[in-house]
Amino acid sequence: MKSGKENILESSVQYIKSVGPKRAESFSKIGINTIRDLIFYFPSRHLDRTTVLTVSRAYGYAINGYDGEATIVAKVVDKEKRNLGRKEILKVQLRDSTGFIECVWFQGIKYFHSVFNEGDYFAISGKPEINYNKLQIVHPDFDKITEEETQSFLNTGKIIPFYRIPKELKQTNIGDLSLRRIIHFAVESYADKVEETLPKEIIQQHNLLDLISAVKNFHYPENNKLFASARRRFKFEEMFYLELLVAIRKNNYQTKLSGNKMEIRTNLVSDFIKTLPFELTKAQLNVLTEIKNDMLSEKPMNRLLQGDVGSGKTIVALISMLIAVDNGFQAALMAPTEILADQHTKNISAMMKNLYKINPQKEIKVSLLLGGQKKSERTRKLSDIELQEADIIVGTHAIFEDQVKFKNLGLVIIDEQHRFGVKQRAALQSKGKTPDVLVMSATPIPRTLSMTVYGDLDLSLINEMPKNRIPVKTVLRGEKKLPDIYKFIIDKSKEGYQTFLVYPLVEESEKLELKAATTYYDDLKENHLRNLKLGLIHGRMSWQGKEEVMLKFKEKIFDVLVSTTVIEVGIDIPDANIILINDAHRFGLSQLHQLRGRIGRGSKQAYCILITSDEIAAAQNANELELEYLPSVQLEKYKSSVRLQSMVKYLDGFKISEIDLKLRGPGDIFGTKQSGFPELKYTNIVDDQELILEAKQSAFKLIEVDPKLEKNFSVLIRENLIKHYSENLAYAKIA
Ligand code: ADP
Ligand code: MG
Repeated sequence: MKSGKENILESSVQYIKSVGPKRAESFSKIGINTIRDLIFYFPSRHLDRTTVLTVSRAYGYAINGYDGEATIVAKVVDKEKRNLGRKEILKVQLRDSTGFIECVWFQGIKYFHSVFNEGDYFAISGKPEINYNKLQIVHPDFDKITEEETQSFLNTGKIIPFYRIPKELKQTNIGDLSLRRIIHFAVESYADKVEETLPKEIIQQHNLLDLISAVKNFHYPENNKLFASARRRFKFEEMFYLELLVAIRKNNYQTKLSGNKMEIRTNLVSDFIKTLPFELTKAQLNVLTEIKNDMLSEKPMNRLLQGDVGSGKTIVALISMLIAVDNGFQAALMAPTEILADQHTKNISAMMKNLYKINPQKEIKVSLLLGGQKKSERTRKLSDIELQEADIIVGTHAIFEDQVKFKNLGLVIIDEQHRFGVKQRAALQSKGKTPDVLVMSATPIPRTLSMTVYGDLDLSLINEMPKNRIPVKTVLRGEKKLPDIYKFIIDKSKEGYQTFLVYPLVEESEKLELKAATTYYDDLKENHLRNLKLGLIHGRMSWQGKEEVMLKFKEKIFDVLVSTTVIEVGIDIPDANIILINDAHRFGLSQLHQLRGRIGRGSKQAYCILITSDEIAAAQNANELELEYLPSVQLEKYKSSVRLQSMVKYLDGFKISEIDLKLRGPGDIFGTKQSGFPELKYTNIVDDQELILEAKQSAFKLIEVDPKLEKNFSVLIRENLIKHYSENLAYAKIA
């Protein structure tokens, strides 16, 4: 501890050379208040000699058709604005010791004209091209550097850092050069005073840089290897503390709370399995063994069941619930929507009737519980008596409202779609007695994500599909192919095929959405699909209304179901074996995969047709390497194309979600806040898998030997947790 002495690192940034009160204020707007904050403001990239070309090399590359980017360090020697017809363009000439290069702008002329001044040095990046025998870069990225920096960079290979400069800083005239100077000064003067935040043992075990060296090398790396080590240290630390919280949470469930110890008492479960019209897959049996072992043990179950769409998670859930019922407990199943809850109830009730025929000792009561605040919906609420008598309760999140009092809840199953975060699970666990909890993930979650978001859960995986499934055929087509596709749908309907026709939710308001839906529907009915029977389902309908339409579709009253919102199909519709998804690029990959999971459950060949703009469809051949060199407008199209292509290529949901994660990042996919997914500053969930695993193992090992962090070597960790993670600790109490 710092025995009362003022820590200089906690002083205001205004005392740093050339900052002062005014600039301090603008730093404060981006969260930099103290000298420490400034020292931990790391560069977004570096200029590194190994990536820089001389003008003559760049010329040589360009002439040989080189298609990538180059960075060149050069001095401005001339600039001119010129009129090209009615348009103005700006040309800036720069030179290094080997020759001249010209930068060209078609937009923002005034601004760039003011930035590039004779005698200034710049590092410019972009795609070098030859135009009338001149080396050119159009609209380059650039960073201003000093002559001095240029010299030391070129002579000693010193790496130059570049920092992101938010507009708040620009307002007080802080630019590339001045920010670099300010941070350089702070690092030189104070970085040595930064206190270590990881114990020696951890640093040694994992071969990490100490904090001071890591800070210095992050800003001014002595070489690339040390730069990589610096980043590795920060990534490790970030993941280590995060996994520590996960480990503490898991330890809490396992030691503090005592769960129900169940047994297999009667033939209930084995009789139920006999009633199934199919054999369980090996994978289903394996996960059932894992679940059963948890339920039969005293520790409360905390398990994540993962399995691709259609892998048969529902039956696994039901069998688990029967184990609880066999022990006199109630079991609850939470579905993400009302229509799904209702469907589950109907299906389960029907199966329980079959079971009763061969096992009349016990009549299992299944009840549906929905949240009905409005008077007209009052009937949907369960009476208390019914709630007490029910064995299996299916519902939406209403199940967990405070006023719902179960008789003796032994098992909770959450059929979730990333809507149920750490917080809710913690709340559930703390509700009096500790029920066993099984979370079923509808979307396959890549391993690194499940380690962080669901790291406190044990994992069960159904990695096998029921037999005799014919793989769905997926194609990607541009809009101009639609007429042909409608013909295909009409032809197939003669063979008894039914079709889902999906439009994305484009409009913000439900009213507009309804209008759009009706327009599509009317148009199809009058034109392309006039000889077929069409149904319509949309977001403005009540769930009962939706279900009615779905049932009619199942009874083949419609050939085609037009839907605007994502169809919430809980019902298996065996003959709906075509799904046509319009504007497919507007959907997330996981969503597309879910939608495709709606078909291909029967014995016929199923088709998934993705429709997108003709441009995206034409960009089909883009590969990942090319992406790095595309301008941003085109990049989006190519990204869409790559995403959609992966739907065509892969049927495996895990593979697809990994690609989605790579292209969009976890925040976009999971909605950072909802899922409890932490914002990561240093770590990349896709690229840093091994390091994440290493940090996780280290954190879990520590909690195993010192669960309350009370031993000597844990003091530092404990202090840091309390200082920086107090918010998260609410769900992961330490003593
Ligand atoms: P999901 O994992 O997407 O929730 P479901 O549980 O809805 O999948 O199962 C999809 C379909 O497969 C259902 O019609 C179900 O009855 C059927 N099914 C489940 N297990 C098997 C199996 N072992 N063999 C054949 N069909 C199965
Ligand atoms: Mg399901």
